[in-house]
Amino acid sequence: MGSSAGSVLSPDEEARYGARMLYELRRVDLVLEDPLIDDYILALGYRLVALSERPEQPFTFFVVRSDEINAFAAPGGYVGIHAGLMHTAESESEVAAVLAHEVAHVTQRHLVRAYESMQKATLPIALAMIGAVLASRNASGDGAEAAVIGGMGLLQQQAINFTRHNEYEADRIGIHTLAKAGFEPQAMADFFARMGRATRSNNSIEVPEFLRTHPVTASRITEAKNRVEAIRRDPTKVLEPAANEARFRLMRERAHVLTSNEPAKLADSYRRQLRQAEPGRAASLRYGLALSLLRSGQARAALGEFDTLLRDAPNELAFLIPRAEAQRLAGDAAGALARLETLAEIAPDHRAVLLAYAEALNATGDKAHGQRAMAALRPVLAKHGADPTTQAIFARACELAGEDARALEAHAEVALYTGRPYDAMEQLTRLLERPGIDYYQRARVEARIEELKPYMAELERQRIRKEDQEQRRG
Ligand SMILES: [Zn+2]
Repeated sequence: MGSSAGSVLSPDEEARYGARMLYELRRVDLVLEDPLIDDYILALGYRLVALSERPEQPFTFFVVRSDEINAFAAPGGYVGIHAGLMHTAESESEVAAVLAHEVAHVTQRHLVRAYESMQKATLPIALAMIGAVLASRNASGDGAEAAVIGGMGLLQQQAINFTRHNEYEADRIGIHTLAKAGFEPQAMADFFARMGRATRSNNSIEVPEFLRTHPVTASRITEAKNRVEAIRRDPTKVLEPAANEARFRLMRERAHVLTSNEPAKLADSYRRQLRQAEPGRAASLRYGLALSLLRSGQARAALGEFDTLLRDAPNELAFLIPRAEAQRLAGDAAGALARLETLAEIAPDHRAVLLAYAEALNATGDKAHGQRAMAALRPVLAKHGADPTTQAIFARACELAGEDARALEAHAEVALYTGRPYDAMEQLTRLLERPGIDYYQRARVEARIEELKPYMAELERQRIRKEDQEQRRG
């Protein structure tokens, strides 16, 4: 590698910088915060990581709320995949192929090597800017765009562009991981080829971002195909099919609907598609229809579509959870709560079920329900404490239950995980001044403040450096 030890990031620094990038993306509302999609993409990602070159490396997978066809990896094993890429994929193996490629960038430490050419001090700023850059591409106006031009966009480019050799290696290693995990290895070549064709055949379509950073060449597709042949000839590679196409199609439509800004229009489009759908595609299109009806305020119509779906799959949680929400919004809050309570008993470890149950309890505004919601969320918090959605629902439950100080703690966590660390620190500090907080809570809050101090000091240092740079440029 030939670099001085000081220029390489420590694993701790990598993890902190990657986390900060995720928080920045949340601050600009670019992370799809949905427990069902979250669980899906985590399971898919971890299946690949377990068979990667470095299964011990921590990873965080998330879906970016954007129509762009893109995916990227950041330090600390943070891998983002855009809803637009999921929507373009025709099979679960194609999504897995892209994830396996990004996982390989991380396991082969391409990121760290790319960063060695950058000044260490500028790296966290560059990472923080990824959020702003993505947000500006999504924004319709050009105000946001202008804000990130002026050097920062360039930093971001440097931060995520790999060498051609890196890309070749990520393809090569990614495809082996893909095959070992039981996905269709041909999917990598298929996806690249389809993207390449779509780009060439229609010049009015913008080149997908993923292709800008991952140019598809004939040799790249040929190499992927040759590797598939080699894998197929090797008798030690017994491929247990792992792809679950039915689940993939549901989650693909779910990500599409939750990303859309025009759910009512989308509902019309799903209705049209449903009229001509082959039987195999009908369920996922009807799911898209039901969700877009729910999102556009047509709860009663959504309820009917969910009931149709449940006739063929009465235990599908991806149907049952939003169905309860539709029931509540259609005016039957008690019935919805009763159903979710039953689901929480049947699936006591299921995060999406417990969050929906707690939200339904909170919606009643009842103190005893707040207490029940707090109890229901404790196991979720223990496992997913760094999830702002869980913390926000927990905060509301605490308020209802009359536990105001505990609610403030949870609000501070929400602030931290959504890119507002100064707010978080201020809330925690003010909490200590409140009369009547008990010994345990004081100890917990003090410990949390101590934990966050190095992080805050780092932000403080980097802010000063950033201002320095701006002054020099001006
Ligand atoms: Zn790549």
